[in-house]
Amino acid sequence: MKTKIKPIVVNVLLIVFFVCLTIPKLVGQNNDSLNLTKESQHFKFYSTNGDIKVLDSLALTLEKNYSRITNRLGLQIEKKINVRVFPDIKSFHVAINYPDAPDWVVGSCIGDELLMVSPLNPGSIHTYESLMQVIVHEFVHIAVYYAIGNKVVTGLPKWLNEGYAQYEAGQVNEPIRKSVESSLRDKVPPTWTQLITASAMEFGHMNGYGLSVTIVEFLVDTYGIDKLVSLIKEPENIETIYGLPENTLEKQWIQYIKHEKIE
Ligand SMILES: [Zn+2]
Repeated sequence: MKTKIKPIVVNVLLIVFFVCLTIPKLVGQNNDSLNLTKESQHFKFYSTNGDIKVLDSLALTLEKNYSRITNRLGLQIEKKINVRVFPDIKSFHVAINYPDAPDWVVGSCIGDELLMVSPLNPGSIHTYESLMQVIVHEFVHIAVYYAIGNKVVTGLPKWLNEGYAQYEAGQVNEPIRKSVESSLRDKVPPTWTQLITASAMEFGHMNGYGLSVTIVEFLVDTYGIDKLVSLIKEPENIETIYGLPENTLEKQWIQYIKHEKIE
């Protein structure tokens, strides 16, 4: 039975948990056990010796996505991004100062550093493959941070930040769309404002990740990627960018999810 439950948990609950703190240094201690073990064109990797063999794949995945994401956001990042690969879930959770976090917490960024659990030891929820998406997801957060700076914290709605990261990382799929659709059948979804004000854990538990990526998908499908990028840069101008009040966009999103005609 266990093997049957696992994919459902992954699909329905969420894909990845993210904490983007603006503090410049790691709070946790386990950082010291990681050494610089690989450099690629745009990244520096820190890992244990045991994880060196996965770094080529991580580097390839990141470099493959790098130009698309930086070009989209109109960015040039002058320095190499640090990637810290932790050997297991426990050491990762200690490093992000969240020692009792659940197993779905596998990726994070702190300042402009990317932190993740090794895909070779992904824990009980994630897999090697999903960790390969997580690393792109976290890089998107860093790229957005370079694009708008502290506005990530002060002004960027959580649904937009998380939804866009999942969108670029290819983390939306049919089971996620279906889970959101069926949750909307049973109850009224949280408003976009409720998604913004939820704590990180609440956000995960209310299927905030699934809901967020469908909002971004709706906006891109209906109004195009350029408007979405404008929104990331100036989220306070949502009504000007889309020429509609936010609550009309929210209604359209629900119609989109339900495959109804958008009015
Ligand atoms: Zn995230």
